[in-house]
Amino acid sequence: MNCEYETTCPNCGRSAQRIFVRDSNVVRTQCSSCDYLLVLCSETGRVIETYSPGMYVVR
Ligand SMILES: [Zn+2]
Repeated sequence: MNCEYETTCPNCGRSAQRIFVRDSNVVRTQCSSCDYLLVLCSETGRVIETYSPGMYVVR
């Protein structure tokens, strides 16, 4: 069972979804307005996957 919260997108500032995936211990933050995506390990806090269109381009 996943927990979903409304949060603010750090990329565009609009509303985004924060989803805790209990099966795999990851936290997904995704924004439907700008396709922002951040996947964190909820145990270690490490970034598993990230995609930030527009303002923040990290290489
Ligand atoms: Zn966004």
